[in-house]
Amino acid sequence: MDGLMMDFSLTLPALLRRAETFFGNAVIATRLPDKSFHHYTYADMTSRARQLAVALQRAGLERGDRVATLCWNHYQHLEAYLGIPSGGFVLHTLNLRLHPDDLAYIASHAGDRAVIVDRSLVPLLERFRERTPIENVFVVEDSYEELLAGADPAEWRDPELHENEAAAMCYTSGTTGRPKGVVYSHRSTWLHTLGVAAVGPLDFNISQRDVILPVVPMFHANAWGYPYIATMLGAKQVYPGPHLDPESLLDDFEQEGVTVTAGVPTIWMGILQLLDANPGRWDLSALRAMLVGGSAAPRAMIAGFKQRHGLHICHGWGMTESSPVASLSDLHPDLASGDIDIRFDFQAKQGIPLPLIEWRVRDDAGNEVPWDGVSMGELEMRGPWVAAGYYDTPEQADRWTPDGWFKTGDIVSMHPRGYMQIQDRSKDVIKSGGEWISSVALENQLMAHPAVAEAAVIAIPDDKWFERPLAAIVLKEGATATGEELREFLEPHFAKWWLPDRYEFVAEIPKTGVGKFRKTALREQFVQEQQPA
Ligand code: AMP
Repeated sequence: MDGLMMDFSLTLPALLRRAETFFGNAVIATRLPDKSFHHYTYADMTSRARQLAVALQRAGLERGDRVATLCWNHYQHLEAYLGIPSGGFVLHTLNLRLHPDDLAYIASHAGDRAVIVDRSLVPLLERFRERTPIENVFVVEDSYEELLAGADPAEWRDPELHENEAAAMCYTSGTTGRPKGVVYSHRSTWLHTLGVAAVGPLDFNISQRDVILPVVPMFHANAWGYPYIATMLGAKQVYPGPHLDPESLLDDFEQEGVTVTAGVPTIWMGILQLLDANPGRWDLSALRAMLVGGSAAPRAMIAGFKQRHGLHICHGWGMTESSPVASLSDLHPDLASGDIDIRFDFQAKQGIPLPLIEWRVRDDAGNEVPWDGVSMGELEMRGPWVAAGYYDTPEQADRWTPDGWFKTGDIVSMHPRGYMQIQDRSKDVIKSGGEWISSVALENQLMAHPAVAEAAVIAIPDDKWFERPLAAIVLKEGATATGEELREFLEPHFAKWWLPDRYEFVAEIPKTGVGKFRKTALREQFVQEQQPA
């Protein structure tokens, strides 16, 4: 017997309607490039989002067409988050930290037809646009305003999308091969929004009374869903624009009365240092919780914020492939009220899954490993906001198991009470300041140097960036090269922050039985060397 309930499609126009009907007076604040603040209301934002949807139709775009953004976090980007999918188009956020060659590939592979770009990022766009199908360029505070001015919000009609149609896409860089496109549906976006908003670790539940500032970039995995979550709740939103230094962020927190914020550990380490050096300089009494993820939040940082500044960190884990939030360090009541040291131990783990996210851990032989807090295996997950495949990338189909689980590439152990802890990564990537660096791409280029016989690039722990690349080099017999020369050789091909800081010349690179680089051995060697005696 079937249930007798409405088959109501979960689509983003419903979010737009809710925001304008109930939260018209709520405020959205943005720190502009000149550092002044721009304020307007949800009524303004939703009206402009409608105008954007109408204008894109007028510009000749059709249902399902991809519209890219190349933008920092600001109110116009929020308009794009709502307006593009509500017009039936697909929002494609481009990562402004990538090399123009990668952006050219990504925008072409996705088939982007238009782009909304920050004025300060036009020079970057010009370095790759000709290699893409982008026809229309709308510059924020410039031709973007003209685009909106020509459209009447009243003309917007709900395109009556099916909930499984694409709403947005985001590319993730990987170990091998090209970046891969994750395509979010309207349904997955709604369910992720509800799922993240539903979990309230240690008084973290967010509501209409909150003031939410996502530091996490809107070009990286939906800014963890916060623009949609805040809009659904009707909370005040604050966007930092391009000003992500600790001092500007602390000023934002104080001036706008921020209660909840979210970002990668590198940001919070900088903030902690500044607070330690200037106790009492900022009034952060409104700040209730800081969500930290993207890389492991160190226990000492979690404890430092709590013990020295009374600030609460909520640790989360996820991936572009999971929209991205999949788990939060929600503490069981006995842990939350228990010994503070045990509490910090659990907060430093990557948490328990959100409702509807399921996971299992398997070893190389495919056997599930026990949840004993010690045994390790690869984490696999499934759920309604987990990708079922990459866009037009059939060679990556083996990232999914035959029975439908996604292989995360994270090597984890599970505490008997369900808390996941990341122990290692099976993917050859380095995460520096929250963004990926492909070790394989660097190795390939290094090995193109005439003096280099072999090169392995590994992640070395770093106080500020959490990981930085180190290149271990075997020179060809009789050949010579310096680290400086190799750096110059890499420079034209990669973004500056990708370039290894250290070049170590070694006699050989340790290998596994099948001849692959044994990076764990290299890592041990160089990490040990780095430790003070
Ligand atoms: P991305 O797709 O760029 O969001 O990266 C996802 C990956 O970042 C995960 O598979 C992990 O390797 C890593 N990651 C994300 N959150 C955490 C966390 N809290 N602790 C450790 N690693 C994390």
